[in-house]
Order: sequence, then structure tokens, then C-alpha cells
Amino acid sequence: PFHKSKGQHILKNPLLIDSIIQKSGIKPTDVILEIGPGTGNLTKKLLEAGKSVVAVELDPRMVLELQRRFQGTPYSNRLKVIQGDVLKCDLPYFDICVANIPYQISSPLTFKLLSHRPLFRCAVIMFQREFAMRLVAQPGDTLYCRLSVNTQLLARVNHLLKVGRNNFRPPPKVDSSVLTPDGSSDDAEISLCVSALGDTLGDMSMDTDEVKDDDDVEMDDGDTKTSEFKDKVLSVLKLGGFEDKRSSKLTQADFMHLLSLFNKAGIHFS
Ligand code: SAM
Repeated sequence: PFHKSKGQHILKNPLLIDSIIQKSGIKPTDVILEIGPGTGNLTKKLLEAGKSVVAVELDPRMVLELQRRFQGTPYSNRLKVIQGDVLKCDLPYFDICVANIPYQISSPLTFKLLSHRPLFRCAVIMFQREFAMRLVAQPGDTLYCRLSVNTQLLARVNHLLKVGRNNFRPPPKVDSSVLTPDGSSDDAEISLCVSALGDTLGDMSMDTDEVKDDDDVEMDDGDTKTSEFKDKVLSVLKLGGFEDKRSSKLTQADFMHLLSLFNKAGIHFS
């Protein structure tokens, strides 16, 4: 009955659900956003803890099951179910997001939440273990990457719980972790800047021979511009003492400093 392609792994351990609810710090006045409610095991406890729940679910069969489950109960007028793809729909106002999400949408969903306005108080989300570790990784860690930098610029991210695969039915192939990235800053532009910077530094420390070969092949107008731009970027990197640094070792403060040097040199990211 469960669709693997929709990431349908149902939480079956009530103690784990209680622990997620308890660690979420839900207030009785909270409007809660749930993503992928499935059969509603988490939804029920969310309804007990908060003022109302808006649940976005892709699978019409699950939507029906959810409606059936709460019909005629005191919860029904505090639950709103939206059928659709959470990545495509406009999110309503919410104070807090609590979700056991399908893992295939982890990255786009994280950035959708981080750019959501008005800001919400926090989000408590179950991620696949490795994805969670990348979100919290620090400079120098093996898993430190663009995702870590971008997320940590926009939010404080904390690891809440380790969750073994046997808490789900059917059990997924990987273990999970519950994290709270809470929207704490509102500088969406910075996220995009760092994406671009990540690429630039990556290019610089990559194969310089390959870059030279390219330059030799055709020197039309476009290539001249590209190589002028490359020189300009290199000079900014040099100015800040970044030319032989790896982006994987840079801290948030390094990235911000580098960003300001680029901006001073007239290079802006959008
Ligand atoms: N919350 C339930 C639980 O904990 O038992 C089910 C979680 S299950 C991991 C993920 C749920 O997300 C499934 O019900 C699936 O149908 C739904 N889903 C998958 N892709 C989705 C999308 N793009 N937008 C909204 N819901 C989605």
C-alpha cells in the first residue's frame, strides 16, 4: 500500500512521536505546518499540542485516509489538509513546521522553508542521517559543503534526535536524524551569493591546465571577457589572502569577508 517513490515511510513508534512533539516546544497558540502527514500518526499529536494544523500531502489516497481518520472528531475543524506538492504550492502562514518528510525533497524543501516569509519560529524536520550531518557540518569536517554554508548563514541548525530505521514502516535503507533549522536571519540574497562563491573557489582550486587549454582554443570576444573576469576574481582572492585556501575550510566569517571584497570590486551576486 505504501509508495516508495513518494518516500512513504510511516512513523510507527509512538514514543518517538512523543519525543519529537516534546522537543518541538509547540505552544497551544501555534499554527503548525506539517509536510507529508501520511496516515496522520504525527498529525494527531500535533493537533493535541497546537492550535491548528495545516498539512500538505501529495498522495490523494493519504489525503482521504487522513480526512476519514479525523472526521467527526473534535480535531476536524482545526485541521486543514492541502492536497499537492509542497514544493509547488504557496505555503500558508505558520508558527512552526514539524515534519517527517520524503527524503528526496530534502534540499529544495529546506531552502523553500528558509526563504519563507513571514519568518516562522522554528522547523523540526526528520532528515536522512547523512543529509542532516551535512546541514550541521563545520569548516574542515568531511561533510562541510555548500549546503552547510548556505543553511547556516540563514538559520541556526541543531541536531535533536538520532532515529534508527526500525522506527518506520516499511523501514528505509538509511537511519535518520531530527534537526531544527529555525529561520533566524532574513538575508536570502546571501544564500545565492555563497552558491556562486562556492563554484568560483571550486573552479580556482580545480584543474588550472584545463582552464588554460580552453583559453588557447578560441579567443573570441566571449573568451576574452571570461578571462578578464577570471583575472579580476583571482585578484580579489589574492587581496583577501584566499588564493590558496579551500572553500571547504572557510568559516561563515571568511565567506562574509570575501563577499564584501567582491562587492567592493564591483562583483555582485544575484
Ligand atoms: N508523516 C507521516 C509519518 O510520519 O508517519 C508520513 C511520512 S512519509 C516519510 C512522507 C509523506 O510525504 C508521504 O505520505 C508522501 O505521500 C508525502 N509526500 C511525498 N512527496 C511529497 C510532496 N512533494 N509534497 C507533499 N507530500 C509529499
